Amino acid sequence: MGGSIGGIVTAAYLTKYFKRITIIESDDVLSDTFMKSTPNQLLDYRCRLASPTSLGRSGVSQMYHSHVLAGEGYIILQELFPQLKDKLLNEYDVRDYSLKTECRFVVNGFVLNQDLTEDFLWLGIDRFTLETVMRKELCLQYGNQIEWKCNSRVVQLIVDQSLNIVKGIKYRQKHHVDSSSIDLYGDFIIDCTGRNTSSVKWLKERFNLIVPTIQIHFGAGYVTFVGERFKTGDPSLDSKHIIGYGLSPPDKNTGVGIIPIHEIKTMDENSLGTLSTFTLQCANYEYPPNDSYENLLEWIKEKLDPE
Ligand SMILES: Cc1cc2nc3c(=O)[nH]c(=O)nc-3n(C[C@H](O)[C@H](O)[C@H](O)COP(=O)(O)OP(=O)(O)OC[C@H]3O[C@@H](n4cnc5c(N)ncnc54)[C@H](O)[C@@H]3O)c2cc1C
Repeated sequence: MGGSIGGIVTAAYLTKYFKRITIIESDDVLSDTFMKSTPNQLLDYRCRLASPTSLGRSGVSQMYHSHVLAGEGYIILQELFPQLKDKLLNEYDVRDYSLKTECRFVVNGFVLNQDLTEDFLWLGIDRFTLETVMRKELCLQYGNQIEWKCNSRVVQLIVDQSLNIVKGIKYRQKHHVDSSSIDLYGDFIIDCTGRNTSSVKWLKERFNLIVPTIQIHFGAGYVTFVGERFKTGDPSLDSKHIIGYGLSPPDKNTGVGIIPIHEIKTMDENSLGTLSTFTLQCANYEYPPNDSYENLLEWIKEKLDPE
């Protein structure tokens, strides 16, 4: 259930153990927009911030947001998709960055990455492109074992209460809202529908099974945009492609993150040659404005560390 990053990785992993895998995904993720776009077209959607809904991807509203992929996750991706890294580096103009020498992570005045005993590579890519390329790889590599049912929403579990097992799911095709649901049975069912999962509710309804959950309420604000970086003349900043000044509430309520997502060829000698996502964050505080760059710049000057 769900064909985003979690669903793609899970399906690829399960190909070792199951002959047939069905992915039920509520968005039209195999549309030409995703599967046939060139690397530059994908970058263009990303930079113009074409809304997730207008691209047919309303299920992942956070798709343009800056994301951090854990080091172990990157290793798993390379194991499951051996061609992925080469394609990203050669066709999508992304590259790896050294956490030891090309980053500057500061929290509460401490540079966190300066004494690393082991270096880690950071993949400089945006989540939208990564998800799209991973899905293409999944289809290419494991297409004969995997069937996609797109535009289809899981609406309930099929259970056997006497045996205490989930036997399958019911799904509905999104464009036929009035049609009855379709039953699909499986030996092993995994929920990868993300943070708005209904499984907790369904398990409670069907088995009176209470899955312990904790709801945390917090207020955080982000403004994210994509931009080209230019030299500041300060080598300690210009040599760092990844920059993060973390939040540490309640004392430090603002932060900034700069993450490279694409290398560009440019004649401008002042350019650092990268497009990056810039994220301005706050917690327990006044949110960064997103109405104009002028107001945003004012906010930055006023609220962020001069460094
Ligand atoms: C603002 C924001 C910032 C974040 N920053 C980070 C970060 O820096 N690093 C990080 O690791 N994580 C971050 N996350 C979390 C990260 O986005 C999620 O953990 C990640 O997307 C989870 O992937 P997933 O595949 O499990 O679920 P999702 O990406 O949420 O995908 C769920 C999929 O299931 C589909 N779906 C949903 N319901 C159904 C249904 N009933 N039937 C069929 N399909 C369904 C959706 O269309 C979607 O494709 C952030 C999240 C948000 C909201």
